[in-house]
This record gives sequence, C-alpha cells and structure tokens, in this order.
Amino acid sequence: MIQPGTTLGIIGGGQLGRMFCMAARRMGYRTVVWTGGLEAPAMVVADEAIDAPFDSPQALAEFVGKATIATVEFENIPREALEAVAAEIPLHPSPEALAICQNREREKRFLRTHGIPCADFEVVASAEELASAIKRIGTPSVLKTAAFGYDGKGQRKLEGGEDPGEVWRDFDGARAVLEAFVPFEKEISVMIACDGHGDYHVYDPAENRHRHHILDVSIVPARVSDETAQEAVQLARRVAEALDYRGIMGVEFFVLPDGSLRVNEMAPRPHNSGHHTLDACVTSQFEQQLRAVCGLPLGSTRLLSPVVMLNLLGDMWPEETTAPDWSPLFADGGACLHLYGKRHARGRRKMGHANLLGDDVEDCLLRAEKLKEAWLSEAAGSTA
Ligand code: AMP
Repeated sequence: MIQPGTTLGIIGGGQLGRMFCMAARRMGYRTVVWTGGLEAPAMVVADEAIDAPFDSPQALAEFVGKATIATVEFENIPREALEAVAAEIPLHPSPEALAICQNREREKRFLRTHGIPCADFEVVASAEELASAIKRIGTPSVLKTAAFGYDGKGQRKLEGGEDPGEVWRDFDGARAVLEAFVPFEKEISVMIACDGHGDYHVYDPAENRHRHHILDVSIVPARVSDETAQEAVQLARRVAEALDYRGIMGVEFFVLPDGSLRVNEMAPRPHNSGHHTLDACVTSQFEQQLRAVCGLPLGSTRLLSPVVMLNLLGDMWPEETTAPDWSPLFADGGACLHLYGKRHARGRRKMGHANLLGDDVEDCLLRAEKLKEAWLSEAAGSTA
C-alpha cells in the first residue's frame, strides 16, 4: 500500500490531472505531472511539473526518477512512452489496457472478441474497403478515424448515396472504422474502479446529453429502468475484467428504445461524466483512481444526492478572457463551481463544470438549464 507522503506521477497535465492532483494533495500525497509539452492546467496544483514532450528521454528519466508509481489522465500518449515508464515504475492502468482504449479499431475488436454488445463495424483502410463496408453495414453509418479520436472529432456520418472515393479522400485518417448508426434513445455511462485484485466498485450510471458533440450535462441517477442500470453495471464489469484493469474507467453506452445497451467506447481514466462524484458521492472518481493505483482499499461509490453536472464550455464566455457572471450560480446554495484555470476561452473548450445538487434530479436539471441559457445568451449578446 502506497502511503501519503509518497510522490505519484501523472502522465498528462489537463483538467483531469489537475483534479487528481487536488485529491492527492488533500490526502497528503505529492504529485509530479508530465505535461507532454501541452497546455497544462494541472501544473499549478502539482508539486512538480515536467513540461516536456512525451518523446523526451530526459523528461522520461526525470519522471521515473521522481515518481514512485504512475497513472494517466488521458489516453492519447504514445505507447513507447507508456512502456518506457512501465519498465521503470508501476503504471496503472497497464500500457496494454491503454493501447486498446486509445484506438477505436483495437477497442471495437476487443469488444467483439469478448462478446460485449457494440455497434456492428468494419475496419477500412482504402476507398475500396469503404465501399464494401458501406454495402455490408448500410447507412446511416458513422465513419471514425481509428486513432486518437474523441468528442466527435475525426467522425463523419454517412446518410447513403455518398461516393466512397470522395468520402475517403476527404477523410484524414489512414485507417478508420465504419460503424452502424445506433438509433439510441439516450446515452449513459458508468464509472468503474478496479483494484487489480478482483475488487470492483461501480458508480450509479450517469445520463449524458451532448451539445455540439461535447458533453453538456450528466444527470445522476440516469433516468433508465433498474434493469438497464444493472445491465450497464454488469457490462462495465465485464469490460474491466477482460482488460485486467486497474484504476478508474468510464464506459459509455447507447440505450436503445427497448432498454438494451451497446458499448460506445471506454475511457481508461477519470471521465467528464464522473465529475459529479466530486460533490455528490462518498468517494470522488479522482480519489478512487488514487486508491486503485496506490493499492488502498476502494472507497464507497454511494450517491449522496441527486445531481446534475453542467459543463462550462468556452462559448459561455462573453470574451476570450472574460468569464461569465457567476452570481446566479453562487446564489444557488446547492451549486458547486469547478474552474480549471484556463486563461483563454474558445468555443467548445472545457473551462470548468458546475454540480447542482438537490432532492429531485428534474429540479437540478431545470436549474442547470436556466444557468446555461443565461450564460449562453449573455455571451451571444456580447459578441453580437
Ligand atoms: P464518440 O466520439 O465515438 O463518443 O462519438 C461522439 C458522439 O457521436 C456520441 O456520443 C454519439 O452521440 C454519436 N455517435 C457516435 N457513434 C455513433 C453511432 N454508431 N451511432 C449513433 N451515434 C453515434
């Protein structure tokens, strides 16, 4: 068991790393963040930061020299860097689990191999393969780059009648996955924590709604039947077991009108749809990640209150460096503000989130929508 006082290494310096460092700090651990040379909101809350690219041998040596154990806060880290870290100090989750989750082709093949329900798909690497995949899968379908895609990036919906040659030329990926379009009723996700020794703690499913392909609100508990919620928990567990996972993971699902589920994707780290756990659960997803990687017993995932998490995206900012007026949020005694310390707001950038707690989830949702509408119309007014 790795005790407080030890230095934990985090690969990646985004907001997920920042919130991990805050949880670690609260519990008396030290942190060293390796940013990869990217903008890093975690840097100001870490004890130490290594602000260098992931292919720097000096940065690697410094990181493994300072950290006793390592984890990640995003999955798009070159596999060589992950393996080089894992060769020197324990890294959780493993490079193998990360490699599967960071690439859609591997992820979809993994799901298929393990009989976990997901959208039908074909892997394509040329216009000819795309043409035959469209024939088999049909339309509507969604073409997605195999590597490094998130938040709807590197995706194109095919409605039918497109010229596969043209689509392939316009598509900037060497390999892609063509997925059958899932006519879902809603999207949910489950956060699962695994200690690596057979203990799994699962959070209540969150119901996720998107705006411009980015998470907008997470509603917890999700408004689905008990059977669907239980099925989601079981499937998340099967995914984690098959990955031999250690750490925290988000599993996203499509819910079909009959209540059945298809896995959309996995996130091998804390997830945006788990941010409500910071204020509404006994153990936050960040503390849970720490517990899992340090070999502490996992904490309770119990939901203490209905909650709606509202993402604060850059389009709510009246100016690039001027934040919205937070007074209506502060006037709501059940709202908790989390800002990531990013100085420049751009359209879909995640600047922070707010957790709205209350006795009734519908009421939390109304309060969240009201805040969002006020900020969006204020921002639109200032740019008009
Ligand atoms: P992703 O980046 O794969 O999570 O996709 C982003 C969003 O696109 C999802 O949250 C869905 O709303 C939508 N989407 C992705 N794949 C499909 C699919 N096969 N069928 C229907 N909608 C999809």
